[in-house]
This record gives sequence, C-alpha cells and structure tokens, in this order.
Amino acid sequence: MHNVVIIGSGCAGLTAAIYTARANLKPLVLDGHEPGGQLSLTTHVENYPGFPDGIMGPELIENMRKQSQRFGAEFKAGAVTEVDLTKRPFKVFAGKETYETRSVIVAAGASARLLGLPGEKELIGRGLSTCATCDGYFFRGQPLAVVGGGDSAMEEANFLSRYASRVYLIHRRNEFRASKIMIDRARANEKVEFVTPYVVDEILSPEKAVTGIRLRHAKTGEKREIALHGIFVAIGHTPNSVAFRGKLETDENGYIIQRHGSLTNVPGVFVAGDVQDHRYRQAVTAAGSGCMAALDAEKFLEEHKD
Ligand code: NAP
Repeated sequence: MHNVVIIGSGCAGLTAAIYTARANLKPLVLDGHEPGGQLSLTTHVENYPGFPDGIMGPELIENMRKQSQRFGAEFKAGAVTEVDLTKRPFKVFAGKETYETRSVIVAAGASARLLGLPGEKELIGRGLSTCATCDGYFFRGQPLAVVGGGDSAMEEANFLSRYASRVYLIHRRNEFRASKIMIDRARANEKVEFVTPYVVDEILSPEKAVTGIRLRHAKTGEKREIALHGIFVAIGHTPNSVAFRGKLETDENGYIIQRHGSLTNVPGVFVAGDVQDHRYRQAVTAAGSGCMAALDAEKFLEEHKD
C-alpha cells in the first residue's frame, strides 16, 4: 500500500515527488509513456529561474529526479492504463502491475501535436519547436514558420515576430479557428505573412537541422518551397487524460478540472501540470502546481489516517 502514487515524471510530477518525499511519504512515481515529459524533448531552457546561463531540458529533469530520489522517491517504468478511483484505497493499473494507494497525484502532462511527417521528432531542438515562449529567442534575425490556424498559432506568430526577420503563418485552410481579434493582430503585423491554404509536405533538413519547408496548395496541389531556419508547430495539445475520462471531471478538450489549487472532484486525487493547464504550460508553472498537489496530498493524508 502506497501513501501517494504520482502519475507522470515531468516537471510537475517530479516536483510533487520532491515535496512528498521530503514529507516522508515515500512516493511512487510512474514514469508514463514520455519519461521526463516535454522538458526531455527540449534543448536549452533559459527561463527556468535559478539558472543564469540556462540549462538543458533533459539535465534539468534528471536533476529533479535525483533530488526526489535523494529523499526516498521510488520510480517505476510504465504508463497508466486504468484507474479505479471509486473507493479508497485507490487502484492504479500500469500494464500488468496494480498499485494500491491512499492518494493519487495526476501529473500526466499534455503532448504537443505534431504534423506526422517523417523525421519530425528528431528535428525537435534542431529548428523544430512546439513552444515559441521557450525557443523563439534562439531564432533572432531569422525567417521562421508557424503552422496552425488557432489562437496558439496567431499568438506564437506575433510573439515570434519580436525576434524573427519574417514569420510565415502556414495554415491548411483559408478560414481560421482563431478568434477575430487574434487574427486581426497577426494580419496587422508587417512581419507576419499568411500562407494559405497550404499543407506542409516536407521539412527540409539536409544536415539534420531545418533549412526550409516544402508546401502543397490544399486545392490546386501547386508546390512551393520556403527557406527558413525554424518551424513552430502550433496545432494544439492533447492532455494525457484518457485513463481518467469518466472518472475525473474534465473539460470539453479533456483537460482535468482542478479546484482550489490541485483538488479534483474525487477527494484524495490531486492534479498538477499540463494535464490541467492549457493556458500557461510553462516548466515553472508545472513545477509550482506539482508543489501545490504535494502539499494538498500531504494535508489529505494527515486528515484521513484510515
Ligand atoms: P486549436 O484551436 O485546436 O487549433 C488547432 C489548429 O491547428 C487548427 O487551425 C487546425 O486546423 C490546425 N491543425 C490541427 N491538426 C493539424 C494538422 N495535422 N496539420 C495542420 N494543421 C492542423 O488549438 P490551439 O490554437 O492550440 O488552441 C487551443 C485552445 O487554447 C483554444 O480554445 C484557444 O482559443 C485557446 N488559446 C487561447 C489563447 C488566447 O486567447 N490568448 C492563446 C492560445 C490558445 P483546422 O482549423 O483546419 O482544423
């Protein structure tokens, strides 16, 4: 029987592990299908406080992991396939393993959607990014593309225009999902050029770093190439909440709903990080929410000693 099982080993899960381990709760962390979460897919992180020269994403995550292990956090590989939260102790199923626990912290994260092109994943950190706030600064003075037609794409295009020499906003339709105000703002930005309706057929990367994109007109099939150094994929995120659907309250996009910090609709089950946050999505906010979930779990266990 565990005191607390933490589902997910990104920034939120590991911060929850540090706090619950230091509270002597001997947390069990289940790594999930992307151990280390989105930070492990990033290169240089320059906006996490405390690192004046920046730090590599995988190194930051490894440090957090070691920090939690130093206080007794235990780790198991495997993704959670199912949970039984109907009564305490809760049951967490990961493959063939079943874990019984007095409390649960869900920190399963969200995955940025990718275009599904060959070699795309390997280009993350080599010109391809899913986070303008994280990586925009590295592309000062260079031409870039943003792919997508929602609010994220508009916001990222505007944000990136601070650094980039030119931002091509590539969208597969002439109509946009984004709100009018966001579209108007991007259209008024002289550095942003709308390229629609175009589909990205190929990311050009002869030396394993982005040098351009090959586009196809969605209606005529006409091909076009643009030389650029960065491509920001902004086609949405998917919260990793499938195992919790129907068991924890979620919004229409599948994000778990939190109340008063990290509480869910099930007492004893707490939530942290990007699986409950489609707004801020930063390493530091995920870490902060992991801390909140740990403190809430600790308080819950103190009050429910059964
Ligand atoms: P979104 O609204 O779901 O938009 C995703 C966009 O990506 C759509 O334009 C979609 O095209 C396109 N897309 C999806 N899959 C694609 C694929 N495989 N290839 C090419 N294009 C693809 O996602 P989001 O922009 O991340 O926004 C998510 C939520 O956060 C929204 O509710 C949004 O309003 C909110 N948000 C708000 C703000 C703000 O207010 N400041 C900022 C960011 C996000 P189609 O339209 O053709 O399907």
